[in-house]
Amino acid sequence: MIVDKHMIRRKNRSMLLENIICNEPISRATLSKQTNLNKATVSEITKELLDAQIIKEIGEGSSTSVGGRKPTMLQLNKEVGLSISIDIGANYIASALFYTNGMMIKETIIRNISVYKDNVVELVVEAVRQMEQIKISTIYGITGITLAVHGITYKEKVVFTSYYDLDKIDLYSEVKSHFNYPVYIENEANLSALAESTFTSEHKNLICLSVHSGIGIGVINNGQLYTGINGMAGEIGHSIIMPEGLPCRCGNRGCLEQYCSEESILKQYAEKSGKANVTPDILKEDYYKGDPVAYEVSEKMSKFLAIGINNIVVSYAPEIIYINSPIIRRIPEMIEDIKNNLDSTFMDGVEIKNSTLGSKAILHGACAVCTRKFLDVTRLKLCSSIS
Ligand SMILES: [Zn+2]
Repeated sequence: MIVDKHMIRRKNRSMLLENIICNEPISRATLSKQTNLNKATVSEITKELLDAQIIKEIGEGSSTSVGGRKPTMLQLNKEVGLSISIDIGANYIASALFYTNGMMIKETIIRNISVYKDNVVELVVEAVRQMEQIKISTIYGITGITLAVHGITYKEKVVFTSYYDLDKIDLYSEVKSHFNYPVYIENEANLSALAESTFTSEHKNLICLSVHSGIGIGVINNGQLYTGINGMAGEIGHSIIMPEGLPCRCGNRGCLEQYCSEESILKQYAEKSGKANVTPDILKEDYYKGDPVAYEVSEKMSKFLAIGINNIVVSYAPEIIYINSPIIRRIPEMIEDIKNNLDSTFMDGVEIKNSTLGSKAILHGACAVCTRKFLDVTRLKLCSSIS
C-alpha cells in the first residue's frame, strides 16, 4: 500500500489542531497522550502552527502531581483571522463579523426589504463591504464569507427555494466575482445545527428544527453535518401530514409547513383575530394577556410541530432536538405543550429544548463553516460570545 506522507501529515495536523481548540489551553504532553502521536511529532507540528501564528503559547500551566517543570500551554490565536456571515432572508439581510475563534465582533441587520434574484448580489456585496470597513488587525485578515440561504443548497449551489427566487441565479459565481476570499453557501437550518454542535452542545447526534417562513431541520450525525446525497436531507417541512391538504409551493398537498410554519401560524392568527400585520411579538403579547385565540393558534402550532418532531425522531433517532423558532422563543411554554403531544415510546430519552443561540444561530453556524475550512479541521468546539 502506498502511504501518502503528506496526507498523514495533514491528518495529524488537523487532529492536533482540533484537540488544541476543543481542550484549550493544553500542553504538548497532554496533546501527545490524547492523540497518541509521539512527542517529537507533536513538537514539530505545534512549531509549524506557532510559526504560522495559528496557535499561541499562553504561559505556564500547573505542574504534574510528581512535580517538575510547569508546561507551556497552547491555544488558538484569536487574532489569526476573521470571517463574514451573511444570512439572506426573504425580507431581511443579517450580517456579522467574527474572529476565527467564534467571537462575534459586529452584527447588523437590514429589515423590511424584499430579497429576490435581481437585488440579492447587490445587497450581499453591500453587507460584506460594511464589514470590511471595520478595521481589525489580524494575521490573515478575512478568511471567508458564508452565505446562509433559506432553501436547499448543495456544493455552493442554490438548488431550490420556496420563499424567494434565488435558485434562478448562480449566486455563488455572482458573489464570488466581487471578492478574493473563499465564498461558501449553506442552508440556514444546516447552519443552525452546526452552530449548536460547535458552540453549545456536547451531543454528537443532534437536530436543529428551524421554524421560520418554512420548516427545515439540520442534522448532525456523529459530529458531522448530514445533508444526504444532494443536500435534500432534512426537508421535513415538506413531509405530508394531511392527504389532500393545503397546497404547497413544492407541488405536494398537505405539507407540514402549511400548518405550523411561522408564516402559516401568523396568517392563521391574523384571520382568526381580525388583526392586520401580526408579528411574533403581537402573538406573544396577546398570549400572555390570556387571549383565547392566541392560545388556540399556539396550541395548534404545538400539536402540528409535535407530529413533525415524532416523524423526525423515528427517522433520525437524535439525542436532542433544538427548536429555533421566533414564536416559541417568545412563548417558551410551548416547549412543554409540544412534549405533552408526544406520547410515543420512541421519544424516551430524547431531549427537546429551545435554541440558546436563537436568532444568532445561523450567523454562528456560518462562522463555523469558515473556521472549519480555514483551519482545515472537521471537528470544532468554540465558545460563543453570547449565551
Ligand atoms: Zn411542500
